Amino acid sequence: MIARSQALAALAEDEFDVVVVGGGITGAGVALDAASRGYSVALLERADFASGTSSRSSKLVHGGLRYLQNFDLGLVREALLERQLMVKLAPHLVHPLPLVVPAFEGARPDRLVGVGLNLYDVMAVGRDRLRGRRSLRSSARAGAAEAEESWSPARHRVISGEEVVELLPALAAREPTSGYLFYDCQTDDARLVLTVLGEAERFGAVCANRLDVTGLLELDGRAQGVEVTDLESGSRLQVRAANVVNATGVWADQLRPQELHQEAELPSIRPSRGTHVTLRHERLPLVGGAIVPAGGGRSIFALPWLGHTLIGTTDNDYEGPLEHVPPSQEDVEYLLSAVNDFFAADLGPGDLTGAFAGVRPLISTGDPKKSVDISRKAELYETSSGMITITGGKLTTWRRMAKMTVDRLVERDAREASCRTQEIPLGQAVDPAELPRLEGVPEQAYEALAGRYGHGAHRVLQVAGERAALAQPIVEGCPDLLAEVAVAARHEQARSIGDVLLRRTRLGLLAAHKLTVQAGPSRRVGETLARELGWDEARLEAELASFSSEAQAEGIALPAAAAS
Ligand SMILES: Cc1cc2nc3c(=O)[nH]c(=O)nc-3n(C[C@H](O)[C@H](O)[C@H](O)COP(=O)(O)OP(=O)(O)OC[C@H]3O[C@@H](n4cnc5c(N)ncnc54)[C@H](O)[C@@H]3O)c2cc1C
Repeated sequence: MIARSQALAALAEDEFDVVVVGGGITGAGVALDAASRGYSVALLERADFASGTSSRSSKLVHGGLRYLQNFDLGLVREALLERQLMVKLAPHLVHPLPLVVPAFEGARPDRLVGVGLNLYDVMAVGRDRLRGRRSLRSSARAGAAEAEESWSPARHRVISGEEVVELLPALAAREPTSGYLFYDCQTDDARLVLTVLGEAERFGAVCANRLDVTGLLELDGRAQGVEVTDLESGSRLQVRAANVVNATGVWADQLRPQELHQEAELPSIRPSRGTHVTLRHERLPLVGGAIVPAGGGRSIFALPWLGHTLIGTTDNDYEGPLEHVPPSQEDVEYLLSAVNDFFAADLGPGDLTGAFAGVRPLISTGDPKKSVDISRKAELYETSSGMITITGGKLTTWRRMAKMTVDRLVERDAREASCRTQEIPLGQAVDPAELPRLEGVPEQAYEALAGRYGHGAHRVLQVAGERAALAQPIVEGCPDLLAEVAVAARHEQARSIGDVLLRRTRLGLLAAHKLTVQAGPSRRVGETLARELGWDEARLEAELASFSSEAQAEGIALPAAAAS
């Protein structure tokens, strides 16, 4: 990404076709879609890119088996097709994950789950693939057609108890006798946002963080841009644009024109909090994911993620502040109790390597439904000022949400410009074995770098070669390198220790208990940022204190975990 100072200069000088407010996955998607259709685009993020819900998800790129229960068939089908497309466009970042629904004591796997999985299989087959299958039958060139097919999952099947244990070693003690195996996909949500933003920039979008949009610039009731406060300097600026897109997720009902003809021009958001916890792989070893019953007909996921185990999520109405959403103690206990029951384990708060929570931007229809039952469908709103608000939806469906938004702009402008994002690769995959080896870099780091940056891993290794210290891991035993801190500051607008630990790397979620003291890894990150961003000693101490407060407000390390 371009440097923040450079982006600020462009924002103050230029006039844009579209200004996007919000740098989560939805805003990033709109920026990429609009820029790739030839619009000049500015994207403004109040805090850090992906610091809202888009870094706090379950990291699944999935259809959502659960939504079948609510007969949300359109949403599931759309998400399943997007899932396949994401694997094709970003194979290093979105990859297939086997998931298991185990059965015990010789019982048949649950019939109803089997019915749902059948439907899931059928809906995952795209029209092209159906056509492909038909032509495969009739074509003599079947092999060639098959080679061109992109990833799509094998059908679900029943597997033996031994196979269940191979995929879920943590379940060995319960001696499962069989289970369903099916596939979904997994990603690093914050990295997906950064990657989409990077692509948007390639098409000319100008993106900057720490810019709070405080209101609309209006002329005769029409939105002509936005009023902005630069949260670093405190200065105010105006960003002029013919179109304003509000992609602020759970904050979507807060950006308002001076006059609204009716309240229905804006969504009414009903935030729902979801909590996750993480554990060392050795404490709950998983190769694939497990669907874990959690009482009352609910289930949660236990998933392998970035060398750890990720457990979540809860789903409850939330009324607290939106800036920092800590996991509740009750939610953590609920998650631990469900996994302990299911895996016959004895995990306690002291086993946790991190915890985080996020809020879903659910759209209220006034119906007092439980948040789990509210649809995850995306909705587009248009005020008489012309501002378009896009919210709801899921991480998985970001591209469709962006398309829906930019299609509306194109229609309004009577332009001829069709969506191209279905064919724009998101980064470039690289084989970890082909990355140059560097003295001091642990072997496990190469795979992690290839998964996070794709071809961009070369740049990280180049930076790691500048000084011996940069080739070292930030946290002993984790693959993330100190060079990534320098890269984040130079090329990804990372401005604080939290930006690096919570989003550019995911150490804040996976090794939180090692970051809460101001010595050690947090200080090493701070010192590297100080060198890159020109902080003096006093600023470094202030930034370390600020990260401590942020970590506490976010509740990333539970007190018991911190003590262990
Ligand atoms: C617990 C949980 C688990 C989930 N799991 C999954 C999953 O596994 N798979 C899936 O597909 N989906 C999942 N989701 C849903 C998915 O994460 C969200 O739908 C998605 O991240 C929302 O993205 P967004 O860009 O709309 O919102 P956000 O990511 O919240 O982005 C909005 C941004 O706008 C910024 N902003 C707000 N106001 C202003 C302003 N005035 N000026 C400038 N910027 C502003 C915010 O700082 C924020 O960064 C999950 C959600 C939760 C809560």
